Amino acid sequence: MIADTIHQIETELAGRAQLIAVTKTKPVELLREAYDAGCRKFGENKVQEMTEKQPQLPADVKWHLIGHLQTNKVKYIAPFVALIHSVDSLKLLQEINKQAAKNNRTIDCLLQIYIADEETKFGLSAQEAETLLNDPTLESLENVRIVGLMGLATNTDNDDQIRREFRGLKQLYDTLAALNRKNVQFSELSMGMSGDYHIAVEEGSTLVRVGSAIFGSRN
Ligand SMILES: *Cc1c(COP(=O)(O)O)cnc(C)c1O
Repeated sequence: MIADTIHQIETELAGRAQLIAVTKTKPVELLREAYDAGCRKFGENKVQEMTEKQPQLPADVKWHLIGHLQTNKVKYIAPFVALIHSVDSLKLLQEINKQAAKNNRTIDCLLQIYIADEETKFGLSAQEAETLLNDPTLESLENVRIVGLMGLATNTDNDDQIRREFRGLKQLYDTLAALNRKNVQFSELSMGMSGDYHIAVEEGSTLVRVGSAIFGSRN
């Protein structure tokens, strides 16, 4: 079942974007099933859940933190996290840099951009993202690399609106990718979930974060 869905999504993506299986709230047996079907990228939104599951899966799994990250929790994921999708402040980036250095690693990060027409606390505006990328402090953060942007479209049935939001994020991506900044090297645009990944891929996504379409709805 899970394997069939994963293979179907991979076929649809046709190499244009990579699949991140979003496994939050799901038991490790289901993650193993996805692993056996070929999945190597798993997305979790909570630090504690990710650190509990990580030792129970093979070491070649790439763990993607897709939810809000508090500075005091960075240390728990710094030894192994592959990509942090939810960087929304310079302060958080500084802490990631510090913990990455302690682990002799460079941690790849995405800036989370607020694109939805909804009330939410998380994500930077276009202006805030540009300001962050131009902050001179960034040059001293040798153990982080900003590799792109992440965004969540509005939760709506209006496909035109979703497409507009993704297109806007892609435009911002292209603009910011052209900035020539140390420790910034854009290659990933994380957009699209179960309900809208088809549109996201058409609009230039390189990483889709798909949960319920693979594992069923969450309670
Ligand atoms: C839960 C979550 C997803 C996956 O959502 P589905 O609709 O289940 O595919 C993607 N991105 C983020 C940031 C999430 O928190």
